[in-house]
Amino acid sequence: PAPRRAQDRLAEQGAPVAGPPAPGPLPEYAPAPDSDPALPANREWARRIAAAIPGSKRGIDDVRSGEALLATVEDVDSAIAGLTSAQRAWAARPAAERAAIIDHAGDILASRRAELIEVAAAETGKTIDQSDPEVSEAIDFCRHYARMALELADPDYLTGARFTPARVSVVASPWNFPLAIPTGGVVAALAVGSAVVLKPAPPARRCGAEIVRALHAAGVPQDVLMLAPIEDGDVSQHLVTHEGVERVILTGSYDTARLFRSWKPSMRLLGETSGKNAIIITPSADPDLAVRDAVASAFGHAGQKCSAASLLVLVGSAGRSERIARQLVDATASLRVKGPEHLDSQVGPVVVPDDPKARRGLTTLGRGEHWVLAPKHLGGGLWRPGVRAGVAPGSEYHLTEYFAPVIGIMRVDTLAEAIEVVNAVDYGLTSGLQTLDPAELAQWLDGIEAGNLYVNRGITGAIVRRQPFGGWKRSAIGATTKAGGPSYLLGLGEVSPAEGAE
Ligand code: GLU
Repeated sequence: PAPRRAQDRLAEQGAPVAGPPAPGPLPEYAPAPDSDPALPANREWARRIAAAIPGSKRGIDDVRSGEALLATVEDVDSAIAGLTSAQRAWAARPAAERAAIIDHAGDILASRRAELIEVAAAETGKTIDQSDPEVSEAIDFCRHYARMALELADPDYLTGARFTPARVSVVASPWNFPLAIPTGGVVAALAVGSAVVLKPAPPARRCGAEIVRALHAAGVPQDVLMLAPIEDGDVSQHLVTHEGVERVILTGSYDTARLFRSWKPSMRLLGETSGKNAIIITPSADPDLAVRDAVASAFGHAGQKCSAASLLVLVGSAGRSERIARQLVDATASLRVKGPEHLDSQVGPVVVPDDPKARRGLTTLGRGEHWVLAPKHLGGGLWRPGVRAGVAPGSEYHLTEYFAPVIGIMRVDTLAEAIEVVNAVDYGLTSGLQTLDPAELAQWLDGIEAGNLYVNRGITGAIVRRQPFGGWKRSAIGATTKAGGPSYLLGLGEVSPAEGAE
């Protein structure tokens, strides 16, 4: 697949978006390019976004009207009834019509890139350099699932078996990827002919509203897609456990997924859940590359990605490990920690500042651990990232997800030991290896237990279609296919055997 290309955003700004194409074959898939910060025009473009962040009210009106519509359990009942009846007509439309609308939604999102970045930054503190690729990912999801829906509708795809979409799906999306993840879940379900309720995490409701608004503008009927900007509580429990809801697409913590299951054991849940992800650095690795990738993976979005690196496992002598630790500390200490309205910010705020887990990761040391760079609270949710050393196998830090700008270092003698400690974690989302030795790579590939593997690359930022994303072990609950992959849509309905099949 083609790599992302640089794009001059100022030049494209305000360019008219063509209307939806007539249903038919879609143009060949191409990923949306990120904005190239090296282009002077883009710096001007980004400056304008940054200036708009502090006063941004985007999305607020949609959130208020959504709240009014879905304030009570009775409202939820009538909303689900409405979606259930509207779904028939949506599913009955030719797949090519739905695909054209979803693909067009990608164009609308592309035309609103600046506004989407603004609302993500204003609402969740996500820095511009982190929000920009998220918009690209949202666009890519539209383009990818539109094309997958056409494939699924091809009579040859399922050997005559019948695919019946879930009548109504709920997408429960997280605040850490407030644009890409709701878009991915919603357009996947819409593409197969499901009706959808988007329930964004409360800290990211305005982002959810902007996504729903863009999809409606692209031609998704109002009564087929609804925003539920509600708090977590009785009404949202009623929503996700509603008997009319046939799929719940959750991206959130393992605990949330467990809670959903405890509410309704029969729930058809596609859960992408927590991670406690490590990068192993072997003696053959290029230390400069390894440190660069570790810093980006640990502290991008202040460590608040389920894919983030939270542990470095250094293989080899104490002296070598110390050198890498020193380099890591230097690189970490030089990061600019600022609010997203500062264009040069590299680490933004912790989104839920009083979250006890994040606090604990930033303040509590386990036995034998010490800070080689202590996290520092700078106010306003901002923390200078921390690096701890001396993490012991089986310790709390080794096994716990913190969702905070902190990384730990563990030292082991052999790659086999490193693989063992990484696999000892209950989760298995992303995993990294830094090596220049093919034999080490083969050993790691053979033994490592995680859904998304990265070699000599950071471990965040999976790209739609190129790196389908999904977890193993407790990093997934109920999900059997990867987001952004070739078969994700199959999980959004039932496949029944062809006529006469046994
Ligand atoms: N897909 C994201 C990545 O590859 C992570 C998603 C998440 O944190 O929920 O970085």
